[in-house]
Amino acid sequence: MNDKTLIIIKPDGVQRRMIGEIIARFEKKGLKITAAKFMQVSPELAQKHYAVHKGKDFFDRIVKYLSCGPVLAMVLEGPKVIEISRKMMGATFGYNAEPGTIRGDFGTSQTFNLIHGSDSPQSAEYEIGLYFKPEEILNYQMPDQTWV
Ligand code: ATP
Ligand code: MG
Repeated sequence: MNDKTLIIIKPDGVQRRMIGEIIARFEKKGLKITAAKFMQVSPELAQKHYAVHKGKDFFDRIVKYLSCGPVLAMVLEGPKVIEISRKMMGATFGYNAEPGTIRGDFGTSQTFNLIHGSDSPQSAEYEIGLYFKPEEILNYQMPDQTWV
């Protein structure tokens, strides 16, 4: 059984026309998209998404940011997909993120960091459930699956 993660291209990634660039990196790595939705996140959904950060001084800011414009939410699947996608995203703040990572290559900001990725199997399960119904996650095979 493949691992799953929730990836979101955040409003700045959409506004900066980086959807294709970001998805291309995950595709080339050999990860599989099993669900995708271009959507507006409501403030209520953003609050649920960031529930673990409730009470922190940046909570209101990140809720406002995630819900300020359209995002692309995706489920990615693959062996060790959580660890791999977190590495590909880079450190949380653009100014700390290593070159070669998405955040390291494309931003300097603390808040506008382009992308979200689940950080554990538990958070992936919780977050995927917020954005997708079970029937929206597709089960299919890729022809190169045994090679990547
Ligand atoms: P995300 O959950 O958005 O994928 P992350 O897992 O790398 O990012 P978290 O620690 O979950 O980072 O923080 C969630 C968001 O809150 C970050 O994307 C960042 O915008 C913001 N954030 C985190 N820590 C701080 C902080 N100390 N000061 C300001 N903003 C912060
Ligand atoms: Mg996080």
